[in-house]
Amino acid sequence: MGRVVFIGAGPGAADLITLRGLHRLAEAQVVLFDALTDPALREHAPQAQWLDVGKRGFGHATGQAAINALLVQQAQQHERVVRLKGGDPSVFGRLEEELQALAAHGIGYEVVPGVTAALAAAAHTARPLTRRGSGRSVSLTTAMTQLGTLEAKRSADTEVFYMAGQQLPALAAKLLEAGWPADTPVSVVSRAGWPDALATEHRVATLGEAADRHAGRPAVVTVGAGATAATPKTLSLDRPQA
Ligand code: SAH
Repeated sequence: MGRVVFIGAGPGAADLITLRGLHRLAEAQVVLFDALTDPALREHAPQAQWLDVGKRGFGHATGQAAINALLVQQAQQHERVVRLKGGDPSVFGRLEEELQALAAHGIGYEVVPGVTAALAAAAHTARPLTRRGSGRSVSLTTAMTQLGTLEAKRSADTEVFYMAGQQLPALAAKLLEAGWPADTPVSVVSRAGWPDALATEHRVATLGEAADRHAGRPAVVTVGAGATAATPKTLSLDRPQA
């Protein structure tokens, strides 16, 4: 019986994986991978059998139960199994279900973190998610509930929504309902971390206009403090004024 290493592949281009992730990948006999991971990572584990368990966005090409069963089966047959996930495995990655399936069969595991999409988007736009004085909290939220309905609240200074790309006009309406002022800055970044990443700037009231630009691409929506353009620093609060 083997062990499963969950590896966060990062949000895009292969070189955003961690060194630890790369080392574990190089030792794998089997790799179960998601649709949002870069095919270039295959070069780092040519010895392994690569199994596509592709999911895209919220839709599932392969049901979660089937993935769990395949993972268990592979770990029973091989020593070193890798479960490669887009971004970070612990963020909207169905990690809990897969860990439970392994635990039920007494199979060991390790989790290697990765760069989640919210962080790649912040890097791409050079808009820090936290700001001294104005942005003390960040919330990672899925816009889609388990039942497939859209929900949005105001729970942090910076709110990053995953899985909302298909429904930006509806998200705008929910944000207004939740009490976000209409002129709150919103940044939408699709394919963050890839060479063709695209970022657009909006206000809560006009977020719907982003839909066409990002159609068909995985996107995160950042609302509030973290979507504000960094302004030139005019005074330092650290030092007493002259
Ligand atoms: N575990 C992943 C998230 C998987 S859920 C992570 O940590 O990033 C899938 C959602 O993630 C997509 O609907 C989209 O909202 C977001 N996403 C994934 N990759 C992305 C990328 N490169 N750019 C922008 N958003 C991305």
